[in-house]
Amino acid sequence: MQQSVMKAWWDSSHMAGGNAAYVEELYEAYLDDPNSVPDEWRSVFDQLPKVDGVELESNHSDIRNQFRTLAALGPLGRAPKSGGDGASVGDEKQVKVLQLINAFRFRGHQHANLDPLGLWQQERVRDLELSHHNLSQNDFDTHYNVGSYAIGKDTLSLGELYKSLNRTYCGSIGAEYMHITDTEQKRWIQQRLESVEAKPTIDRDEKISILKGLVAADGMEKYLGSKFTGAKRFSLEGGDSLIPMLKSLISHAGTNGAKEVVVGMAHRGRLNVLVNVLGKNPSVLFDEFSGKHDESLGAGDVKYHAGYSSDFATPGGNVHLALAFNPSHLEIVNPVVMGSVRARLDRRQCEDGSAVLPITIHGDSAIAGQGVVQETFNMSQTRGFKVGGTIRIVVNNQVGFTTSKTEDTRSTQYCTDIAKMVQAPIFHVNADDPEAVVFVTKLALDYRNKFKRDVVIDLVCYRRHGHNEADEPNATQPLMYQKIKKHPVPRQLYADQLVAEGSIEKHEVDKLVSEYRAALDHGACVVEEWRPMTEHSVDWSPFLGHDWDVPYDGSIAIEKLKELGQKLTQYPEDFPLQSRVKKLYTDRVNMANGDKPLDWGMAENLAYATIVDNGTDIRITGQDSGRGTFFHRHAVLHSQSDADTYMPLQNIKPEQGKIELYDSVLSEEAVMAFEYGYATAEPTTLTIWEAQFGDFANGAQVVIDQFLSSGEAKWGRLCGLTLLLPHGYEGQGPEHSSARLERFLQLCADHNWQVCVPSTPSQVFNMLRRQAIRPMRKPLIVMSPKSLLRHPLAVSSLEELSEGVYHNVIGEIDDLATKDVKRVVMCSGKVYYDLLEQRRKNEQTDVAIIRLEQLYPFPKQEVEAVVKQFSHVKDWVWCQEEPQNQGAWYCSQHHFRDAIPEGAKLTYAGREASASPAVGYISVHNQQQKALVDDALTIK
Ligand code: AMP
Repeated sequence: MQQSVMKAWWDSSHMAGGNAAYVEELYEAYLDDPNSVPDEWRSVFDQLPKVDGVELESNHSDIRNQFRTLAALGPLGRAPKSGGDGASVGDEKQVKVLQLINAFRFRGHQHANLDPLGLWQQERVRDLELSHHNLSQNDFDTHYNVGSYAIGKDTLSLGELYKSLNRTYCGSIGAEYMHITDTEQKRWIQQRLESVEAKPTIDRDEKISILKGLVAADGMEKYLGSKFTGAKRFSLEGGDSLIPMLKSLISHAGTNGAKEVVVGMAHRGRLNVLVNVLGKNPSVLFDEFSGKHDESLGAGDVKYHAGYSSDFATPGGNVHLALAFNPSHLEIVNPVVMGSVRARLDRRQCEDGSAVLPITIHGDSAIAGQGVVQETFNMSQTRGFKVGGTIRIVVNNQVGFTTSKTEDTRSTQYCTDIAKMVQAPIFHVNADDPEAVVFVTKLALDYRNKFKRDVVIDLVCYRRHGHNEADEPNATQPLMYQKIKKHPVPRQLYADQLVAEGSIEKHEVDKLVSEYRAALDHGACVVEEWRPMTEHSVDWSPFLGHDWDVPYDGSIAIEKLKELGQKLTQYPEDFPLQSRVKKLYTDRVNMANGDKPLDWGMAENLAYATIVDNGTDIRITGQDSGRGTFFHRHAVLHSQSDADTYMPLQNIKPEQGKIELYDSVLSEEAVMAFEYGYATAEPTTLTIWEAQFGDFANGAQVVIDQFLSSGEAKWGRLCGLTLLLPHGYEGQGPEHSSARLERFLQLCADHNWQVCVPSTPSQVFNMLRRQAIRPMRKPLIVMSPKSLLRHPLAVSSLEELSEGVYHNVIGEIDDLATKDVKRVVMCSGKVYYDLLEQRRKNEQTDVAIIRLEQLYPFPKQEVEAVVKQFSHVKDWVWCQEEPQNQGAWYCSQHHFRDAIPEGAKLTYAGREASASPAVGYISVHNQQQKALVDDALTIK
């Protein structure tokens, strides 16, 4: 701020020493909209310094302080009240009028008519009262400049303006958007709301279609209620306008170019959405109520968790709809939906999100209560996870199971306040006004499409019954339910409105109701827009029906490996590397030539190179995945001169598969769920999530339990996601040692996934290739190493890589005379090298060591083939680093016992049972490690 410019102006101003507060207010109004202040003032403010030429707001407080300082410096005295050459009362009122407009834009939602039950206690907002602005009804006939108020007129009488502001901001829609800092977005929303006073004209056809939606919503629940009395259906009743809302949203999306819509929602209203939006055949649903089920699914799931797919006709063409399967865990489906959408966008090569629309439907308590919501908002604009904005709808029935007191459910005014962290606009809307609902829905979609950002619609409604239909809500919500009992259903309210305004005759309404009921009786699809599925873009049939041992050819010529190795080690000439990275890349050149054995990092990168060279896409995310937590991967190079990045893997050849590798936001739950969503929507991409340290995956336990381990059994959804979980006991303490192998093993059944512990570079190479090449799609859980990344014995030759086989079991590698062997130690992972080194040091020849590189599905035949060599041995040991109650011992010993020779004894060598995964003291760790290795090698 240039004091001299200001001073010169002040000295020459008729305001010198005058009313600084008045100028301040005027300046405030100018900041919001330069056209809102009289020309004379505008030209004064225009001369004030600007930040970056535009961002006036950022130095606003400086300027305000200048006004104050100058006012203090100047001669005392107030600006004349009227006439003369000072600011007139008219000018002052003009400013107040502009402030009034601003107040409605900021806080009008707090006086909006949002609650159909009228139970909300709205606080008095004085900013919305005329008197707060020194205005009164006496000013109603005076015309004022309305500044940027987008009503299409420059001036309005205060009376007209006040009514208009109330209609726009305090009707059935409560718009919260003034927290957005981007002026273009704010202006855009103002234009859309103010130009029609938040109430567009809706033609008769659309009104009838909205009514039909409500008839369907209500008819469906009534039908289920009477046919299957008392059965859980998690009725939508009270939130009925969700149905016309979704139909309008999908139709509008299709008209605007969307080709697919992916919806995630919890159980409330799900059956209604399935039948009335996705077009699930009602007779199929009724059969499910009667206990029939799809025999092809293993365990199956309850009907209100089921997903569904169909196509939906819109004026812009058919749109593919997918309702994601989801568990009871509220909100976790949101990142799954986002991942699924990202996969579809990638497949359609659509970067701006226009081709695929994500819709997530939340509960009011859950959106405020569950942390994964914050995680998804945080992801929404990041490179690796953005999807061009999500439409988030809250079915706000003002109660969560039995908890409804606001002070018990949240610490924020609205359940949607979390959305402000990404400056998403939030439209609260009274669900009993379906036209307002449809209006904000289109507005929200247009906002999303234009600005590629998340937007929230808070559909304020109620829940007609208890949490489920067998529940008694009066026990905990007596007053609310007394109101609900007397409250007419939304269909009734809207039909009455349409009859009253002459849009429809009463008998026509009755006909719609009876026709809908007849359609249900008939068991036919009730969605006019339903179309058979042709628009989805991926064929899963090649991946169906394979088990983990399906044959495949993973071999690759050594010459090809060398060629790819050369490409992997190239980077631009003017791209200075950090010295350690440079040394690593120089070593990799030698590895690629076959002059040096390959280490883990090179083998892993080479695996990716072969996969993209083959035209297959790869997606890798995780905390620090570009470099690798342990400095081993360096798939992304960073120029030391300008911090530019370069990925050799993206430069293998022109027509290669795409590889995307992102360091993720610091979340496990949402990111792993996103990748699950990606992998369940895209079988042809090798999708990998990596944990920084393996045990951090427990931050995503719900994804592991509810989706990864059981999704195929419950829903028949295949998923080829790979989890790389660093695991190994190296004395780094309780939190950095264990990926909690036992948890994954405990969840193993039905060949639901694979649990692997590769111990050499060629093994990781062939494991990753196997996962990409085989037609089978099942999750792969990998206990990946830390110290082995640089262990001198953990190296491989190009020949071993080229062989193309992942060895599920690796037998003894030293040249021991079989007959001398008196004990066989079985193990997995890093402890193998501790055992091997100690045995060599001991010069022992009587103990053989076998590595199990795949713990599940247990490779019985391969183990038996290795065990056969030692069929004379009666002393067998399972050795592990983990405490006895952890690791593989308890979950897998039945497999080990089954595999060893008949009559042989299996004993345990490892740490004692412990509540903590590992000790925190390195000296104790070392003692324990030595003891367990000695124990395994000492024949008693
Ligand atoms: P969607 O695009 O998700 O609606 O899926 C379309 C169809 O593809 C579904 O109806 C399934 O038949 C099939 N499909 C989709 N995802 C999977 C999956 N993860 N595993 C097996 N089949 C799938």
